[in-house]
Amino acid sequence: MIHTQKWDVIIIGGGLAGLVTALHLSQNKIKVCLIEKNKYPNHKVCGEYVSNEILPYLKLLGINPLSEGAKQISKFQITDTQGNPITAQLPLGGFGISRYRFDNLLYEAIRGKVEIIFDTVEKVFFKDNLFLVKTQNKKSLEGNCVVGAFGKRSNIDSFLNRKFMGQNSPWLAVKAHYEYEFPEDTVALHNFNGGYCGLSKTETGAVNACYLATFKSFKKYGGIEAFQKMELSKNPFLNKFFNNATPLFNKPLTISQISFQEKKPVENHIFMVGDSAGLIHPLCGNGMAMAIRSAQIFSEIYIEAYQNEKLNKKTMEEKYKAQWQSEFEERLKTGRFIQKLLMNPFASKLGFAMVKTFPFLVPMIIEKTHGSPSK
Ligand SMILES: Cc1cc2nc3c(=O)[nH]c(=O)nc-3n(C[C@H](O)[C@H](O)[C@H](O)COP(=O)(O)OP(=O)(O)OC[C@H]3O[C@@H](n4cnc5c(N)ncnc54)[C@H](O)[C@@H]3O)c2cc1C
Repeated sequence: MIHTQKWDVIIIGGGLAGLVTALHLSQNKIKVCLIEKNKYPNHKVCGEYVSNEILPYLKLLGINPLSEGAKQISKFQITDTQGNPITAQLPLGGFGISRYRFDNLLYEAIRGKVEIIFDTVEKVFFKDNLFLVKTQNKKSLEGNCVVGAFGKRSNIDSFLNRKFMGQNSPWLAVKAHYEYEFPEDTVALHNFNGGYCGLSKTETGAVNACYLATFKSFKKYGGIEAFQKMELSKNPFLNKFFNNATPLFNKPLTISQISFQEKKPVENHIFMVGDSAGLIHPLCGNGMAMAIRSAQIFSEIYIEAYQNEKLNKKTMEEKYKAQWQSEFEERLKTGRFIQKLLMNPFASKLGFAMVKTFPFLVPMIIEKTHGSPSK
């Protein structure tokens, strides 16, 4: 017989969004089960620059990335494809920490307090106001509420037949850590034809290099080394970096089919948090903060309903959708706009010339894609 257990909330995916949701809910006595397919710690493809806007909230949850050695970052440098630089002060600033450490820090905070199952969720059914979640290892779980925190692209997206899965996702990303002389207080974004590469330091002192590129530009070269040498290195900053930096990974991590298409924050009654609800273009350096903030929005709505014994799904869904849209829709749109601009050689040249003449525009643009510090 298959064993079935009932939970208040089942969270699918234990990246930043899922882990923060689990931590916040469990601190409020809610019975939570988190299902994650990979063991901790592990490296993830990510720029690893986190906006300070979520620091106050993390501190409320008892999490302090700075005490883990995260590097405080206050400066931003952007170069065009020829390597012409513009530097600016970051309005809010941020910190550099590897996902290896950051996700693990949150995992350690929930370990022993939340039921964590290492397994892959395969199916989610909603019937008679109740969820049934089925995993690869034939586990069956019942829950009153399900949170989708399964990231940018998952087998669950296919199972739910989500619209963006049928659309074009022509982006790939590559990331690795390197030993390299680089200022601790700076995050750099170097453009090249077909993409851009972020550089910033992590808590270990290693420089994280992570780039996003169109599949079309990448496939001309057929491999990472050739692409870096022949295309990225046309930007003199990246040329210097890839010629002098010592790789610390055996080989870079890669992901493909990255989608920036619109998604729905609630689908099939599942509350989507983090990238499952929508992924902002990485050039905004803000996806992790949005993942954490969306976890906060959901958790606060759920806790309030739970404590007042008003767990009405429809009301909670409407509230979450409205709050998600009011906080993130504009930021996602701005991200898509800047991305388009950078990918168009003419528009990007014009854009760079404009911010060079009016440097105060840089922090203004950054503010458009970032939120206010969380409470
Ligand atoms: C190239 C690139 C660079 C980026 N750089 C930055 C940056 O510098 N700063 C920034 O703030 N953001 C950046 N981002 C965005 C950031 O990485 C994401 O917004 C963030 O990781 C979202 O967290 P998440 O918890 O939603 O998803 P994830 O961290 O992807 O977590 C999802 C989890 O779900 C698990 N999972 C998936 N399917 C299942 C299943 N069926 N069953 C069980 N578990 C499952 C996965 O194993 C994973 O652990 C970047 C993104 C890209 C692509």
